[in-house]
Amino acid sequence: MIPYGRQKIDEEDIQAVVDVLRSEWLTTGPKVDEFENDVANYVGTQYAVAVSSGTSALHTAMYALDIGPTDEVIVPSISFAATANCIVYQGGVPVFADVLPENLLIDPACIEQKITNKTKAVIAVDYAGHPCDYDRLKKICDRYNLAFIADSCHALGAEYKGRKIGSLADMTVFSFHPVKHITTGEGGIITCNNKEYYNRMKLFRNHGISADARMREKTGTWFYEMVDLGYNYRISDIQCALGISQLKKLPEFLKRRREIAESYDKSFSDSAVIHPLKVQPNVGHAYHLYVISIDFDQIGISRQDVFKSLRERGIGVNVHYIPIHLHPFYKKTYQTFEGECPVAEYSYQKILSLPIYPGLNSSDVHDIIESLEKMIDVF
Ligand SMILES: *Cc1c(COP(=O)(O)O)cnc(C)c1O
Repeated sequence: MIPYGRQKIDEEDIQAVVDVLRSEWLTTGPKVDEFENDVANYVGTQYAVAVSSGTSALHTAMYALDIGPTDEVIVPSISFAATANCIVYQGGVPVFADVLPENLLIDPACIEQKITNKTKAVIAVDYAGHPCDYDRLKKICDRYNLAFIADSCHALGAEYKGRKIGSLADMTVFSFHPVKHITTGEGGIITCNNKEYYNRMKLFRNHGISADARMREKTGTWFYEMVDLGYNYRISDIQCALGISQLKKLPEFLKRRREIAESYDKSFSDSAVIHPLKVQPNVGHAYHLYVISIDFDQIGISRQDVFKSLRERGIGVNVHYIPIHLHPFYKKTYQTFEGECPVAEYSYQKILSLPIYPGLNSSDVHDIIESLEKMIDVF
């Protein structure tokens, strides 16, 4: 089975992990700092805080903003559930904005409609690896005095108007799950240029304790204080060693993802039925996902049937995502409802994600295109 995404690990990555296993520090050691520095340098920020997952990174960012009960945070309806869940962890209220039909990015006009006097922040998602309109979103957030967070779990290495994603919002969150651009097994990071956010995030990932074990060892003291309620969201040196090694390969991984996307683009460019999502001219797309839109009603075959047939042929297509506001948890807890985000709901009926990852070879890409075109011709 060809999955929709998967990691690419080589001997150098394996050796980096083995080296840590033979070293003194398995966690809270020097590899964590090194990985944070490498990622901060790569995206061009002063600070980075590495944590145990993309989800805990989102939660940590919400803590840094001091999101609490009665605070509203606006999120796009099309994303992974964690984008909204992180607000709920802090007792805040997620408010769902609709998306743009051409690329499923959060609709800036809809954000403005959803702003109330309780709104404290916006989380925008660089869906599929396509950067959202940072200039426009920043302008809106500045005008209404809102914090601007980027969930860039799809977009490590993406660019907006020639600038790398990671420094363009108040805080930017990345994930290192194996389907993402680089992996640490599980892991995440927040990049920012704000020292206060940075300090709060370091505290939060370590139980709210003001000094970590290595710092205490260095200063020769047993004393520490828990100054706020935090979590154990630490990432290990084993994971960070893998991340350091993987980051070196990011340019090559991105190049291959873009090549695959180009092959898909070319094949579908004259199709009357298969429509890839649109790409703005001023961005460098990171292609975490390659998403096509098909009007299944028009071709008279259900998405379920296409999905099943492709899977039977060993092609692991997927759907990203079920609109978050349609999940039972959000309906029962926040009274979200069908019809709340019509573009998201309508688009969701038509989308399909095709396999894309650095290790996917050209003959597999060819097979995927052929299987899809054949199937759609048949019906
Ligand atoms: C992967 C992902 C997350 C969560 O990351 P994990 O590392 O799996 O916790 C959050 N938001 C988006 C948009 C993602 O794709």
